[in-house]
Amino acid sequence: MACEREEVKPCAHCQTPFTPQRMGQRVCSPRCAGRLVKAVKKAEAVQTRERKQAMKPIRDLVKAAQEVFNKWIRARDSDLPCVSCGVENPPMTSGGQWDAGHFLNRGSHPALRFNEDNCHKQCKACNGGAQYPHMALSIRERYQDELLNRIGPERLEALLGPHPEVKLNRDELIAIRATYIQRLKDLKKEAA
Ligand SMILES: [Zn+2]
Ligand SMILES: [Zn+2]
Repeated sequence: MACEREEVKPCAHCQTPFTPQRMGQRVCSPRCAGRLVKAVKKAEAVQTRERKQAMKPIRDLVKAAQEVFNKWIRARDSDLPCVSCGVENPPMTSGGQWDAGHFLNRGSHPALRFNEDNCHKQCKACNGGAQYPHMALSIRERYQDELLNRIGPERLEALLGPHPEVKLNRDELIAIRATYIQRLKDLKKEAA
């Protein structure tokens, strides 16, 4: 039985018209075959990543966004001391030297979770709730005093609220993370 030759058709990869030499041939050359396989694999990888992201619980997305946001805060404040106790070189711990400490806490002020005025580089001790009985002001009072220095009275007042309730959806959380990944890169570029 003679094998019927297929008609001229466009290559599935480069779109150049070619005459298939065997049944089911979709590409014009081995080169295009290789590239097509690569392109398909890449598309599959993107799909898998998107599917995984779509299945992630929202708290994981919050956590992932917070991680990058906090990293950016520490980088932004890299030349500044602890926002509340003023220490410049706190002891190194397994978790690093610094935290990004929220002034109004995220639990009672979810709208301020990703507010840049509400979050500053802070030493681990202060962020962990250390008490300094010898100091006249509490950590919170000192944080507020320093905030007044750093952001001024108007922004401090705005920060103190009130704030409308905010419920970030998945896409917004993913976008926040992407934004701060980019801004962190930009900061590092500026610093270099
Ligand atoms: Zn081709
Ligand atoms: Zn401190």
